[in-house]
Amino acid sequence: MPDSLLSGPALLARIDALAAISAEEGRLSRLYLTPEHRRANDLVAGWMREAGMGVREDAVGNIIGRYEGERPGLPALLIGSHLDTVRDAGRYDGMLGVLTGIAVVADLNARGRRPPFAVEVIGFGDEEGTRFQSTLIGSRAIAGTFDPAVLETRDAAGTRLADAMTAFGLDPAAWASAAYKANDVLAYAELHIEQGPVLEALGRPVGIVTAIAGATRLAVTVEGMAGHAGTVPMTLRRDALAASAEMILAVEQLCSGQERLVGTVGRIEASPGATNVIPGKVRFTIDLRADRDPLRLERVGAVRARLEAIADARGVAIGFETLHESPAVACHPALMAQFAAAASAEGLDAPELPSGAGHDAMAVAALTDIAMLFVRCERGISHNPAERITAADAEAGARVLARFVENFQPATSIP
Ligand SMILES: [Zn+2]
Repeated sequence: MPDSLLSGPALLARIDALAAISAEEGRLSRLYLTPEHRRANDLVAGWMREAGMGVREDAVGNIIGRYEGERPGLPALLIGSHLDTVRDAGRYDGMLGVLTGIAVVADLNARGRRPPFAVEVIGFGDEEGTRFQSTLIGSRAIAGTFDPAVLETRDAAGTRLADAMTAFGLDPAAWASAAYKANDVLAYAELHIEQGPVLEALGRPVGIVTAIAGATRLAVTVEGMAGHAGTVPMTLRRDALAASAEMILAVEQLCSGQERLVGTVGRIEASPGATNVIPGKVRFTIDLRADRDPLRLERVGAVRARLEAIADARGVAIGFETLHESPAVACHPALMAQFAAAASAEGLDAPELPSGAGHDAMAVAALTDIAMLFVRCERGISHNPAERITAADAEAGARVLARFVENFQPATSIP
């Protein structure tokens, strides 16, 4: 019985059951505070109860299972990841960490093991930021760093986050109650697919994360002058979209050639958006990441200066809005060593690698020490329906996490 709880095929069967909950037929899109989020929380809550956990949903829609230690009320080792997805997503990103955490607790429960600490498994409601363009809402809320201004942001349909929370059955005014007290928490561990090609290239099923890259997300607004596509001569135009095209190539150029620095323009809207009208206004996003903060901040400054120069030269106005800013976050060396020992006990040599992607762990770092275990994924593909891992690798990750939990030593002594 315990073996089957950690088995790769059992984990992947649950991954598939969860992936069936989607807003769209034939592809996986599960956004924060939607009916699909509700169904996912309910399904996961059932698995948590089955694993011997008490279950609650917090004030921002995170689903949390608690497995008591050798006596009730002990501080907890937190294990988490997210249940929301991007549009047309893969099925492992986020979900694998939540389901593996549940499997590890189910295994403890089946063996009647009560560690000298509690274990809480958290399914975060929003990590990707797909719906409200604000990432890590769930993990920021539990870490006590949620910005209530985000309650006023609106999704593409014009729905305010606060109203979406109400429709979901939550009280938006109660957001602060989601925060954990530092004394109730010992550490946070997150298992996640790598979402990159490094482990596959090294031929290793799991790896230990050293740090999560810092990220800056900007919204750029470029304003020129809309006009008739037939009557305004090229020399008299202030085309916001042509200016933006030049700016996007500048972002690409300024973010190239530096190791561990990446920059992306992933979204653009031109208005009025008609074939026969010169675009008067464009809004696009910039996502820039690096594992060292000084490098990232220097590049953000360089990008802004270059884009302002392009705007000047083309006679268009430019404005920047910072949507998201997160420093690079280091994993705790003592926890990394515990993951390494757990991997080694499973006969695995787990290399260390940084995470270029953001994760809930980086928000939780404001609350407690963090560590992350990466599981190899095929060709590094993620945020894509072709995202894939093997059952054997899922099981390797689960076994390493199970050993990590079983042998967990907090940095601070348990009261
Ligand atoms: Zn993720």
